[in-house]
Amino acid sequence: DLTIGQALDNIAERYPDRLALIVRDKDVCWTWAELKARVDAVAAGLLELGLKHGDRVGIWAPNCPEWALTQFATAKAGLILVSINPAYRASELEYALNKVECAALITIPAFKGTNFLDMLHEIGAEQLPTLKHIFTTGSQQYEGSTPFHKLYSDKINILNDIQIYPDDPVNIQFTSGTTGAPKGATLSHRNILNNGYFVGRCIRLGVDDKLCIPVPLYHCFGMVMSNLACVTSGAAMVYPGESFDALAVLQTVEAERCTALQGVPTMFIAELNHPQFNDFDLSSLRTGIMAGANCPITVMKSVMERMHMKDITIAYGMTETSPVSFQSEVDTPIEQRVSTVGRIQPHLEVKIIDDSGEIVPRGKRGEICTRGYSVMLGYWGDKKRTEEAIDHEGWMHTGDLGEIDQEGYCRIVGRLKDMVIRGGENIYPREIEEYLLTHSEIIEAQVFGIPDEQYGEELVAWIRLKEGARTRPEDIPEFCRGQIAHFKIPRIIRIVDEFPMTVTGKIRKVEMRSMMITEIN
Ligand code: ATP
Ligand code: MG
Repeated sequence: DLTIGQALDNIAERYPDRLALIVRDKDVCWTWAELKARVDAVAAGLLELGLKHGDRVGIWAPNCPEWALTQFATAKAGLILVSINPAYRASELEYALNKVECAALITIPAFKGTNFLDMLHEIGAEQLPTLKHIFTTGSQQYEGSTPFHKLYSDKINILNDIQIYPDDPVNIQFTSGTTGAPKGATLSHRNILNNGYFVGRCIRLGVDDKLCIPVPLYHCFGMVMSNLACVTSGAAMVYPGESFDALAVLQTVEAERCTALQGVPTMFIAELNHPQFNDFDLSSLRTGIMAGANCPITVMKSVMERMHMKDITIAYGMTETSPVSFQSEVDTPIEQRVSTVGRIQPHLEVKIIDDSGEIVPRGKRGEICTRGYSVMLGYWGDKKRTEEAIDHEGWMHTGDLGEIDQEGYCRIVGRLKDMVIRGGENIYPREIEEYLLTHSEIIEAQVFGIPDEQYGEELVAWIRLKEGARTRPEDIPEFCRGQIAHFKIPRIIRIVDEFPMTVTGKIRKVEMRSMMITEIN
């Protein structure tokens, strides 16, 4: 029952001289005591601006030291951090800032060739009526904004006067936008701090660990499962760069001797298939988390063997549940560790229901519903959608299909929305994707349905092949014949170089579906 600020103070008191944050490209290497001192100074600076309890502060930046400082400082100052995707462009940013009525914004001046300040000027101050303060990362002075370091204040006594409670909202976190427009989930200290703690505990994170964090901080994976898992365990946070780059991850793990690494499946696939993979010594790795999307068994096995991460676990969750509700542990038997998302996390409840809302027997598939401390306060300013997602008994309806076995291990079948009904047969794309990945030349496979006059829906597979591979689309049905049921064999096959992705690294089947529909019609 702590607040995020108290958790940081506790760790800084216990382990003042141990490493807290390493950002290689920014020459940052801070201990917990140093991090705490900076956080206190920034928190005081934010309050001196006149910001009041519950005011919204936006951050629109890729991974950087200021991100962590802002995350902890807003929590300590009783403010609500709004994490905004750096891929957002002017109109999306304007919508997000106004929707949550941000009073201040921290932004990077420019990123990946785009000038963020120009975009703000383009929107214009009159279109952003609540936004009073703009800060830029780094120390350079830009017109119309203040450099971040000017936020540092030495009047930290101001922090003693504010009351913060575990149930206060601390973060508005947008979902990935895999299935449509992102939704802003409002989360409390209790929600995310506890979740960060349990996530870290599953992989036995401790003060001797160094966690490599290539996942975005503006998403719950980075801000909760990485940063808050470190603050509750004392492990060091290591940022390999502003945004994901497989080579930078490999270099960072080797140079910093990281013991843990996180990522969505596509990140691990990119690291394993990097042409220089074999040049790196990754033997310091012990554990990590793969999460965010279906984690193929073959990829899990490769990570265990080739990246030395024998203690890797899979986590399942969603932004709306802070995020993790299932996770395997380092001592979960290997078979279950590569094929399930483990058991329900402590202090949470789960039920699997059918279309009519009835609980199904063990081993049967249905929609996963979760309940407990981790369920969000609601979608910000959207009562209707909150009530659609969380029922009157407090159950979060995840929209994901799963099944739980006698021992409590949960297998994720896929998203309800991704289920394909072809000629009356229910088909779960994940099953077919797993089979396609057993092909020696296929490194990534995505299966989905598109409307079809004859069968209602028809199955499409997009595959990505190893360099120099000779497989042709017409070979795929042959590879499936006799191995999977005939109605599950994809009829339309595309060989592609890449998949449309969300910036959190998740593959957007909705976009692939509409591309195929336009192509066919
Ligand atoms: P949006 O809700 O905006 O469409 P999103 O659901 O991808 O996007 P997130 O909250 O980031 O946004 O992701 C949660 C979803 O990711 C889950 O509902 C689930 O479908 C998927 N997911 C997360 N972890 C796993 C996992 N281990 N295995 C399979 N799917 C997973
Ligand atoms: Mg979702």
